[in-house]
Amino acid sequence: MVTSQEQALVALKSAGFRITPQRRDVVELLTSKKRRFTVQEIHSRLKQKHSGLSIDTVYRTLATLVELGIVAELNLRGDASIYEYQGTDDHHHHHAICMRCGKAICLEECPVPAAFEKSLKKIHFQALNHSFEVYGYCRECQSR
Ligand SMILES: [Zn+2]
Ligand SMILES: [Zn+2]
Ligand SMILES: [Zn+2]
Repeated sequence: MVTSQEQALVALKSAGFRITPQRRDVVELLTSKKRRFTVQEIHSRLKQKHSGLSIDTVYRTLATLVELGIVAELNLRGDASIYEYQGTDDHHHHHAICMRCGKAICLEECPVPAAFEKSLKKIHFQALNHSFEVYGYCRECQSR
C-alpha cells in the first residue's frame, strides 16, 4: 500500500519539484491525520524542527501543493484560509461549501466523467489538477 504521503511526494516530484525537508514535513503534517490546518498552525508546528523556517516558505509550499491539486485551500468566511489534504489523481475529493457559514463539507466522489478524461487525451492535454465545488446552504443554515 502506498501511503497518502508517498503519493503526494511522488506527485510533487513528477511535477518537477525537489523534495526539500520542509516540503516533506508540510506534506507529512497534512497527510498524517484527517485534519485541517491554517498557515499559522503549520508554521508553528514545523518551526520547532526547522528553526529557520519562515511563514513565507510555508505559504509557497502550500501554494505549490494547491496548484497541483494535492491540497485544497478552503476559504472559510471571515477566517484565514484553511488547508486540507485532498488526495492525488486517483483518489481525491471535493467540497460542498456553505455560503452562509462558510463550512466546507467533504464529498468523497469525483464528478468528472470518463468521457471528459478522454476529451483531454484527445487534445493531448496533461491535466494536473481540477477543481469542483458546490455552493449552497448547509443543513443548519437552511433552518436558520
Ligand atoms: Zn452553513
Ligand atoms: Zn475535504
Ligand atoms: Zn475530482
